[in-house]
Amino acid sequence: MHTFIKKTALSLGFDACGIARAEELTDDKAYLVKWLDEGQNGDMHYLARNFEKRTDPRSLVPGCQSVIVVLMNYNPEKTQVPNVPKIARYAYSEVDYHAVLKSKLNELEAAIKHEFGEHCFNNTDQHLFVDSAPVLERRWAQRAGLGWIGKHTQLIAPGIGSYCFIGVLMLNAEVEYDKPLTDRCGSCTRCMVACPTAALENRSLDARKCISYLTIESKKDIPVEFQNKLSGCVLGCDICAEVCPWNKKWAVPNKHKELKPVEEITQWTKEEWEQLTEAEFKKVFGQSAIKRAGYAKLMKNISTGSID
Ligand code: SF4
Ligand code: SF4
Repeated sequence: MHTFIKKTALSLGFDACGIARAEELTDDKAYLVKWLDEGQNGDMHYLARNFEKRTDPRSLVPGCQSVIVVLMNYNPEKTQVPNVPKIARYAYSEVDYHAVLKSKLNELEAAIKHEFGEHCFNNTDQHLFVDSAPVLERRWAQRAGLGWIGKHTQLIAPGIGSYCFIGVLMLNAEVEYDKPLTDRCGSCTRCMVACPTAALENRSLDARKCISYLTIESKKDIPVEFQNKLSGCVLGCDICAEVCPWNKKWAVPNKHKELKPVEEITQWTKEEWEQLTEAEFKKVFGQSAIKRAGYAKLMKNISTGSID
């Protein structure tokens, strides 16, 4: 079953697949309690909900015994022209990545059911997750042998780097499991040094200081102390990923036709971004992950964060 799942995942277009035993994440539980107590989640209060479910997939999906994890490289072929408001690479695609990964995970589930039976999945509860609050996806990817969690708190996958989406499928069957890899950050601290807002410390991310949070999730105005530290980033931030030597070594453009980029992102000048109208925003980004942030937030970020 283990080999079938991994082969099928790769044949569906995922770049990597691993499987971990479903069990309680005791270390993460202790860490999360402290992180939440210190308020490092900012306004992302949903991260404190469903605590038991987040730290044990067997509470989230009754009957779950294994966690299948897939990766999909999203690194775009072309990035933006210099000196324009910066959009994080994950958001380049025309179609929202949630839809792309969910559709492929549905195909993987159907193939497993066809081969091994309907009972392999909990057919009444949600058991497929993409970037979804109740699942610690990076930790499961690490446990499934797909990489290690770098000091910038992102997954680094050998041969891919950190520009990858993570999808999770909870399986109600026991299989052979992959072995976790060794952490290869060593004495490097480049991501921590490069972070313009000092959001990284001791392998922890203070979301309240992170540009990704400030420019996407936060509903509030960007605090004054960070307004001149955005380094041109107006929707997400790739700075800690861009300086990582493993991305320099491994990150290659993705070949996924489903992640075809919005051409305007790599073509627009600073003026074109600044003059973007709401109608144009809807037309160009109507299907993309950028629409989640919303027009008003993007334009506010552009006026706050652009570099002259
Ligand atoms: S995404 Fe940007 S702001 Fe957030 S930790 Fe990385 S470098 Fe810092
Ligand atoms: S920049 Fe260095 S410390 Fe940071 S994640 Fe990459 S290898 Fe690890």
